[in-house]
Amino acid sequence: MKRVLIAGGCGFIGSHLCDRLLQRSDVERLVCVDSLWTGTTDNIAHIRDERFRYFQGNVEEFQSDITFHEIYHLASPASPPWYMKEPRRTISANLLGALRLLDLLEPNGRFGFMSTSEVYGDPLVSPQPESYRGSVDCTGPRSSYDEGKRVTESLLFETRRLHGINVRIARLFNVYGPRTRVDDGRAVSNFVSQALSGKPLTIYGDGMQSRSWGYVDDIVEGITRFFWRDSFDYLGPLNIGNDREISVLDVAKYVAELAGGCPIVHVAPTPHDPTNRCPDLTIARQILPGWDCKVPYEEGVRMTFEWFRDRMDAEPARQGIRVPFAGE
Ligand code: UDP
Repeated sequence: MKRVLIAGGCGFIGSHLCDRLLQRSDVERLVCVDSLWTGTTDNIAHIRDERFRYFQGNVEEFQSDITFHEIYHLASPASPPWYMKEPRRTISANLLGALRLLDLLEPNGRFGFMSTSEVYGDPLVSPQPESYRGSVDCTGPRSSYDEGKRVTESLLFETRRLHGINVRIARLFNVYGPRTRVDDGRAVSNFVSQALSGKPLTIYGDGMQSRSWGYVDDIVEGITRFFWRDSFDYLGPLNIGNDREISVLDVAKYVAELAGGCPIVHVAPTPHDPTNRCPDLTIARQILPGWDCKVPYEEGVRMTFEWFRDRMDAEPARQGIRVPFAGE
């Protein structure tokens, strides 16, 4: 029987992972620590399972008398306006969080870390294979997140090299879906919440920049298949995402259509906004046979739209945030 710890379990992806972990009969206890910086207890309010314990606090300071057989580190904001507002805290949650969690790992335990396609920066190759080293600017406004994830990957791979721990690192590509905060500030959630509150959809720049949007259920399915299998020949980080690339303008147009028509406005581009992002899934398809993103983007965005609509009916809309840049 396994004692499992999830840091960031009240977050968008973390809470979906809690649900999956509690479906496992070999989980004796699931401990969740979350600071509620970007996560919310609404995301775990439905859990009625006596194996589940939740503690509010920063992952870096989490105290525990017990060690864990599996640890999942998702304690980090993922939305640019949130991490850009608090870069020091972002680096701390990722890196110092991982250092703290490593102390709580059982000697033969397994450590899962949620990394990001941001490690590829503004990529010069497309799609991006795991071997691509990235085009990242460590002085730029996205650096707390990009470099926070990169150095945490480094910490974990180096700890494995020296001490032989079992590490699994997933690089996630633009995940969207139910349980995103209404004021999260990312593209899909911004467009949907703007459309539902009768506001124009804000495109940063010309909207020709593209992303590969992955519906949360597909992504979490990939994560569990990757983290739960006992052994792999492949030991590197794994891209998990949807490899269908769609421009930001097309996403806005589709959301506007779902809402029955609403205006789209172009505002100043975000500095250092990557022009494209698309996962090379060759390795994922080899080592996770049968896994793929099955929910078409049209259906995923529609389900997200409906979830936001129900939620915003219950609670008046909060505005997505955007960090102002010098000169704006
Ligand atoms: N974006 C936009 N309007 C918004 C929010 C985001 O045009 O209201 C753009 C943003 O500039 C980027 C893309 O959508 O090019 C994806 O942004 P998001 O914040 O979702 O993710 P990330 O930049 O981390 O990939």
